[in-house]
Amino acid sequence: MDMGFKRVLIANRGEIALRILRTLRDMGIEAAIIHGREDRLSLPVRLADVAYPIMRANPLDSYLDIEAVVQAAKDLECDAVHPGYGFLAENAHFVKRLEEEGITFIGPASGVITLLGDKIEARAAMEAAGLPTAKGSSEPISSAEVASELADEIGYPVIIKAAAGGGGIGMQIVHAADEFEGALKLCQGRAKSAFGDDRVFVEKYIEGAQHVEFQVLADGEKAIHFGERFCSIQRRHQKLIEEGPWLSDEKRAEVGALVCAGAESVGYKGLATFEFLRDKNGDFYFLEVNPRVQVEHTVTELITGYNLVELGIRVAQGESLPLTQDDIKIRGHAIQCRLNAEDTTNFVPSPGRLWECHFPSGFGIRCDTHAHPGYEMPGCFDSLLAKLLTWGPDRESAVRRMRTALDETLITGVDHLIPLHRRIMDEKDFLAGDITIAYIDEHQELLG
Ligand code: ADP
Repeated sequence: MDMGFKRVLIANRGEIALRILRTLRDMGIEAAIIHGREDRLSLPVRLADVAYPIMRANPLDSYLDIEAVVQAAKDLECDAVHPGYGFLAENAHFVKRLEEEGITFIGPASGVITLLGDKIEARAAMEAAGLPTAKGSSEPISSAEVASELADEIGYPVIIKAAAGGGGIGMQIVHAADEFEGALKLCQGRAKSAFGDDRVFVEKYIEGAQHVEFQVLADGEKAIHFGERFCSIQRRHQKLIEEGPWLSDEKRAEVGALVCAGAESVGYKGLATFEFLRDKNGDFYFLEVNPRVQVEHTVTELITGYNLVELGIRVAQGESLPLTQDDIKIRGHAIQCRLNAEDTTNFVPSPGRLWECHFPSGFGIRCDTHAHPGYEMPGCFDSLLAKLLTWGPDRESAVRRMRTALDETLITGVDHLIPLHRRIMDEKDFLAGDITIAYIDEHQELLG
């Protein structure tokens, strides 16, 4: 039986659209793509087999108008839609609409997205599957009295987070009981305006934490993991540098077994990332599941040798997992620097035309980008211009290769983060691996 997709709609833009397109080509699947006005001349649109314009006054709407995207998939007779990351990738209503139309969503079922999109529910589900979570409330909290009783129990500091949260929006750290009144109101207000849902919850604030996440692939029944990525170098709770591996083989096997059990317990299908905080003692606390391909999946591809986007498409086609856990071996070390078009002093986006642009290549180097000389970097979308990765037999050689690669990269026309990345590659705490999520705050001298 031929159950393979004939044509897939890419409902995204930029580097991830190109990343997905390349894999569709490899697999002999036709690539269709939607696009707004700003992207009509972009590489993924020019390279796609079919391009479908959705012009909107607000450029974001070209990629967020659910009915327009569903209509595009129907008009273009696509078997499936690949959402990439961002935009509609975690929108349960969009997934439901595709399900109704008999079009495959490359990702988990709408019910699973709904469950995982609610941090309170996701925490409860993963706790039930045996994952360690930070102590906290199992229900939404709206009264300062209840919150401070709970905080007395679990100990200060605590953090208030939105149940529907994302992008670090609204989070409030609380050190004493009298701060709850104001902090709750603030978090609820932010949550309401950003997510249309003002439910918030309280959990233990993990001090000196590192961000460690596990890559998972599942077929609806069984799950395997591809090890971890270390992503503690962040600004505004968004990642700048990702690398792996980071843990001992024993710890990887231990947490890996837990995340697979967690994915299987919800009938997960597709690629997923299980995010954790790891405290000073090395203890893990589950944060959330990202039910989609992530920006940094590339790090895992370099150290395992598997094309994750291809595997995600294959399970969406209805194949069972084509690999077992024993097939996954980690080799060497990989680092990714996000080359955002931003000012290195304050991370303000820097849109504009690229007059000149040369990306490095060579042994152990990978650069995923939709940029080219003459490319007009729009101001209305994410500022990610390129993802630069290096591989080496160990961390030290991957870092050395990253310095070479950064020095070779030429971008003129916009500000970009290359100078910051270059300084980090020489910084002693970075080199020692002495890194927490406060790294950028604690190394302000690197900015500028
Ligand atoms: P979001 O979905 O909004 O990105 P996450 O739960 O994934 O929220 O957390 C994002 C970041 O916020 C973490 O990487 C960490 O920096 C911080 N954070 C979240 N929860 C805690 C916690 N309990 N203790 C310390 N920091 C936290």
